Amino acid sequence: MPGIEYPEKLEIDYQKRIKKRLARASAAVEEAYSEFRSIHGPSIEKNSLRNDSLSREQLIKKIKDYIGAARGGFLRARDEAKLRELGVQFANRMDKFNQEQLYSKFKDELQLSALPKLIGAAKFSGWVSDNVSGIKDLEEEFFDGVLDAVENGIRAGDRPESIGSRISDITGRSQKKSELMARNQFGNLNAQVNEKRQSELGIRRYRWRDSGDDRVRDLHQTLDDKTFSWKEGGHSSEGHPGEPYNCRCTSDAIIEDAIRNDGFLNRVEIKPSNEQIYIAEMEI
Ligand SMILES: [Zn+2]
Repeated sequence: MPGIEYPEKLEIDYQKRIKKRLARASAAVEEAYSEFRSIHGPSIEKNSLRNDSLSREQLIKKIKDYIGAARGGFLRARDEAKLRELGVQFANRMDKFNQEQLYSKFKDELQLSALPKLIGAAKFSGWVSDNVSGIKDLEEEFFDGVLDAVENGIRAGDRPESIGSRISDITGRSQKKSELMARNQFGNLNAQVNEKRQSELGIRRYRWRDSGDDRVRDLHQTLDDKTFSWKEGGHSSEGHPGEPYNCRCTSDAIIEDAIRNDGFLNRVEIKPSNEQIYIAEMEI
């Protein structure tokens, strides 16, 4: 019986949202740089020939003003409440994804007559906060990286187009980091949702499942199919599947635990399946 799947689609969707924000930050920087270049291009060229009309330090100060203004505009428009809402929305979608999978895969063994109850995003407020600070850090790191790149470019006497390509490199690096962040966040959330839902259903143990492709780290490959307990915190160094950085492993519920556990079905609060949760599409 296949277990609960890794929430790949959610991870990719979340990644897209962060990338869209980074693309906006990057567009603001590109615009500021091209404006700077249209006015000070000749000075950058002369700087590259070490024949300064504007001194190197003055050029650095000016370019930092332009990029700093782009950063200020982006950060002023950033709405923390909306970032929080994005986290809540994804926590709810993950909860629903997990609820439906668990129901469709284990309803017979667990004798479930309706979907198990939703956990609700309120239980994942720590995850939501990590999410907000993760996005903010990523965006601030992007602007810091750009500021360093332009300063280094001018100090190195780079030509204008080389400074432009230093900026593109920083954009690419931030996009890559956002992929890792999304992976890490969803591995973690998957672990939390599985732990809460399975524990509530009386499932005390699980089998570790790696994602079965060639990107699995060696240690996690050796953990595949091994049994761990939710209560005891999983593996001694790795914790539960999805908790280690960048881990896509997941957990297969050991249903026999719940079946042996007399009366576990009484503890499952069955709510109507038309329960409403906030999963509306949103722009941030
Ligand atoms: Zn793993």
